[in-house]
Amino acid sequence: MRTQVAIVGAGPAGLLLSHLLDRAGVESVIVETRSREYVEARIRAGILEQSTVDLLRDNGLGERLDREGDVHRGIYLQWPGERHHLDFTELVGRSVAVYGQTEVTKDLGRARDAAGQQIVYEVADTAVHDLETDAPFVTFTRDGETVRLDADVVVGCDGSFGPSRAAVPNPQTWERIYPYSWLGILADVAPSTDELIYAWHPDGFALHSMRSETVSRLYLQVPNGTDVADWSDDRIWSALSARFALDGWTLNAGPITEKSVLPMRSFVQQPMRHGRLFLAGDAAHIVPPTGAKGLNLAVADVALLAPALAALVRDEDSTLADTYSDDALRRVWRCTHFSWWMTTMLHTSTDPFDARLQLAQLRWVVSSEAAARELAENYAGLPIRF
Ligand SMILES: Cc1cc2nc3c(=O)[nH]c(=O)nc-3n(C[C@H](O)[C@H](O)[C@H](O)COP(=O)(O)OP(=O)(O)OC[C@H]3O[C@@H](n4cnc5c(N)ncnc54)[C@H](O)[C@@H]3O)c2cc1C
Repeated sequence: MRTQVAIVGAGPAGLLLSHLLDRAGVESVIVETRSREYVEARIRAGILEQSTVDLLRDNGLGERLDREGDVHRGIYLQWPGERHHLDFTELVGRSVAVYGQTEVTKDLGRARDAAGQQIVYEVADTAVHDLETDAPFVTFTRDGETVRLDADVVVGCDGSFGPSRAAVPNPQTWERIYPYSWLGILADVAPSTDELIYAWHPDGFALHSMRSETVSRLYLQVPNGTDVADWSDDRIWSALSARFALDGWTLNAGPITEKSVLPMRSFVQQPMRHGRLFLAGDAAHIVPPTGAKGLNLAVADVALLAPALAALVRDEDSTLADTYSDDALRRVWRCTHFSWWMTTMLHTSTDPFDARLQLAQLRWVVSSEAAARELAENYAGLPIRF
């Protein structure tokens, strides 16, 4: 097989990259280990920054998002006895949209179908080769046969466990493992709030998010190593009710349809390029989900990468490709800081001094317009070429 850009991974980064390349007249083939059904049903992120929404709209992907996505003007910050609203639209003139990663992935899948995109699902043994040459290639097996995919460029969009990251020799890496995880649930019940609630509580952080008018997404801070089997539905709802407790407000409980434990980690690998291999999305960086940045960073990476690769393979102009890694990493580190800051401000530890500092910081964010604006600007999202 031969194409201009070989993409490893059909998550949001890989699918959107192939879409943007196609609009720039560049061919690509995507290879993916999982089945299409699995990829489209994978429950993950759900908050789209303003820049992500604008980019999807500008590239013909906004129709269902505009119809079914829910625009949120801000978030609530809570600690025992108090809940405060931060209005991003008022503070920084930007908002976010609640629209599940599952839906973004389905929209991208349909757009790729319409364009006749080649996506090879259910491959195994993916490997990348000859990256220091102008003729890199990818190999994989499908139905027991080994296939070679030749290309001008290879892009690793294969997430945190894919092989592309390891193909960069001697990278610099930074990692922070947090001493807690999230127990996340999806429940068939109307959200009890119009916008997300981020709650600090001595028992641990809790987040009330949502996916639609009838589906709620909620998270509880739990210790690392937590086994979901130890958390019955009753135990989950009673912990959530305690952490979100506020006079005059009740949490609606309902049937839980999905439960999983998500460890919290920050990770950055640089550079995001080696020869003719480029990395994008979770393949190069991971953020804890507290700042809702993972999916948005993946989108921002490929928004920078698509024009860079189009210029490289179409016009043999490497100017943007040469600055891609530095350009992307500027935003990656800003979002890494924001995600770390939100995480450490809201998750409780056993240290009572830390708890006092967190409460002082939360109070500062809701009482100082300058502090509120800083959170709003980062949460609603910086421009792509920040
Ligand atoms: C379990 C989990 C839960 C999350 N929950 C949240 C959340 O609640 N809120 C939030 O904001 N963010 C969340 N995130 C983060 C967000 O979903 C990611 O940042 C986003 O998916 C990044 O997109 P991506 O395309 O870079 O990577 P991915 O979505 O991981 O896509 C990578 C793709 O590469 C494929 N792949 C892997 N190895 C190979 C291979 N060898 N060959 C071919 N293909 C391969 C994978 O199957 C996958 O389809 C979560 C992430 C994870 C992992």
